[in-house]
Formats: sequence, C-alpha cells, structure tokens
Amino acid sequence: MNDPDRRVLRDDFPLLARSSHGKPLVYLDSAATSQKPQLVLDTLDRCYRLHNANVHRGVYELAAEATDLYEAAREKTARFLGAPSGQQIVFTRGTTESLNLVAFGYAMPRLQPGDEIVTTLAEHHSNLVPWQQVAKRTGARLTFLPLLPDGTLDLEAAEKKINPRTKLVTIAHVSNVLGTVHPIRRLADLAHRVGAALVVDAAQSVPQRLVDVMALDCDFLAFSGHKAYGPTGVGVLYGKREMLQRTDPLLFGGEMIDRVELTDSTWKDAPWKLEAGTPPILQAIGLGAALDYLSGIGMDRIHRAVQDLTRYAYVSLADLEGISLYGPGPGTERGDLLTFNLGDIHPHDIATVLDSEGIAVRAGHHCCQQAMRWLGVPATVRASFALYNTRADVDRLVDGLRKAKELFQA
Ligand code: PMP
Repeated sequence: MNDPDRRVLRDDFPLLARSSHGKPLVYLDSAATSQKPQLVLDTLDRCYRLHNANVHRGVYELAAEATDLYEAAREKTARFLGAPSGQQIVFTRGTTESLNLVAFGYAMPRLQPGDEIVTTLAEHHSNLVPWQQVAKRTGARLTFLPLLPDGTLDLEAAEKKINPRTKLVTIAHVSNVLGTVHPIRRLADLAHRVGAALVVDAAQSVPQRLVDVMALDCDFLAFSGHKAYGPTGVGVLYGKREMLQRTDPLLFGGEMIDRVELTDSTWKDAPWKLEAGTPPILQAIGLGAALDYLSGIGMDRIHRAVQDLTRYAYVSLADLEGISLYGPGPGTERGDLLTFNLGDIHPHDIATVLDSEGIAVRAGHHCCQQAMRWLGVPATVRASFALYNTRADVDRLVDGLRKAKELFQA
C-alpha cells in the first residue's frame, strides 16, 4: 500500500475530515483509541434502527435477529484470530476487563504461596496491577523478565526465569510504550515446557498485524474493540477451550446461569458463563463490522503499510537534533508507535505545541510508570500510527516538533 492508497482509506474515516484549532487534524494517537470507519458507523446506525433487542431472551423475530447478529460477531472474531470456534471468544468491556478475568477467574483460585507469575517491566498497568493484587491475595510472587538496553526481551534470561515454580507468564504482544514486539510463540513454548499458561495482551497488535492464536499457541489473549477500529465498550478474551472452562465467572446474574435454586445455581458453558447480564450487544456487532473492514483490506497489507510509515517516521524523527527515541531501532521489528523526548522540553509542552498545530499525540507515562522508571524519564511523547495515516501526517509532526524546539529552546 503506498501513500495514495492510504489517502483513499483515510476517506473511510469521517472524523479525519475535521479540523482542530483551525488546521486539518493529524491524528497520531491510535494506540490510545482508533478512529472508526464508515462501515462501523453504518452498522451501529442500522442495528439501532432495525435490529435492537436484548439477546438470548426473546422468542420474537427482533430478538432472534439481535441474537444472531451478536453470535455472528463472536464467530467473526474467532475467524479473525484463527480460533477454531466462536465458543473460545468471550466479549468483555476491553483488554483491562479481559486480563482481570484471567487474573481473578483463572489464576487466583489456582495459585499458591511460592508460585510465580512472570511478566515484564514494560507492561501496561492493566497487565501489571491485577497480577499484583492476585499475588498479594494468594502469596504467589511476581517476577520480571529483564529487558536489553533497546527494550527487547533478554531471552536467555527469560529461559532461566521461567522455571518449574512459574504458573503463568503474561506479556504484551506489542508494547504500548517501547514498541517492542515480543516473541510470543517462543515464550509459549518456554511456559508450556514448565506447565505454565501464557497470557497475551494483544491490545496493540490485533489492530495492526495478523494475530493467529493457533500459531502463537497462547492460552489466553486479550484485546480492545476501540483500538481495533470498533466501538468503545467491547473487548475480547480468547481462551483455549479447556482454559475458558476452568475460568470462574467474576460476575453473576442473568444470562450466565443454567439452573437457579434458592441457595445455589449452576452456570452455562463458556463463553456464556463469563458474560453475566446484558452484554455489549451493539458494540460487539460493531466490532464484527470493524473486523470485516480490516479483513476486506487484508491484515498483511495493513501491517506492511503501517510498518512502512512507522519506519518513515523513525527516520524523519531521528534527524531532529536533541531527540531521544526509545525502544528498538529501525533494524529491529517494532510496533507502529514512536515514543520519544526532545531535548529537555517537557512532553506536555511538546504535545501542547503540536495540538495548536492540529496534531494529536499522547504525552505522559502511557499507563506504564514502571517503564518510565526503566527509561529513567518521568514521561515521554508518543506518536502512534494507523492504516489511515500518511507520510504527510509524519511531515506535519516533524514540522510541529521543529516549532516546539524553536519555542522552548530559543
Ligand atoms: N494493554 C495495552 C498494551 C494497551 O495499550 C492498553 C490501552 N492503552 C490496554 C492494555 C488497556 O486497554 P483498555 O483501556 O481498552 O482496557
């Protein structure tokens, strides 16, 4: 996909036609949330107008339509991830809820004092804080895989760290701060060799690259609809069949039950036992439309295009005097985001100058305070790229950064 193709795709995203502070908007915060293609907006509109009813309950035609659409979204999601069955897809509110479900529904009832949960120093808080809580409540220990200076995993050390006490390894596929791409299949093999489960936070990978859960051999995988060009309020937890069966519900109530007696109840099978209450019906259907949109373009094509743009951005930014770019260099595979500081200008000042130029980037700790400590900085700027960004967006970013330098380093 070259830049003209990307400009055509951009037209699928109505929001990108707006301006910000009187300038054409350059949206470089897709790692936080992505914009939505017309197909998703049309699907939501059509479903609210024509197919809105609660699912799994009514016998009337409308309710059957809503149920079919919701369950079809589950099947689409399974196909998108290469999962053998829709029954391996649980709809949640997002990556955070999916990871909490694994932590409290699967891990907590199993972990014992002395067991180890292995993770890295650069996880999003949603893949750290739940494990801290589970460790506290079970007496298990959290241990951390060391990183090499460029932010990639020290695999030799990982081989030693993942040991017979390890019960679970949990890691991001693509780091939302360093942009590192972790060798998931290798980690799955290391985890399985000692009988541990592998949990993957795929929030930053599913939107931008082909993710095949069978090839990765992960036990659980989580992602958010809103980062994958779908609506907010819906997320996914994929699990191997037996792993989902062994996961206890965290929420109890309607929808998830089989038989209810006065003092006890039994549950449906997974995934439904893990979806108590009215699920995010329209959001899941909207996510299904987003996945259709991505499949229609082709994930390989999207991946190559965004990688090409990220490389262009890396080289363009690397030219700026005083820039510190974090994470792997251009010779190493990296995700579609760049995290950086510019001289001693505060990241929030940079983001404010960029904002005045109509450019949206993120500044702060990116829900990853421990990675900031590892980098030795309080905060960074992050520019993240999606299938609708173009080289012209990157050029505007570079111009904006030059302006910030002029203003703050004059
Ligand atoms: N993990 C990673 C790597 C992320 O980038 C994010 C979102 N920034 C999350 C988890 C949390 O996603 P959500 O807020 O949609 O639950």
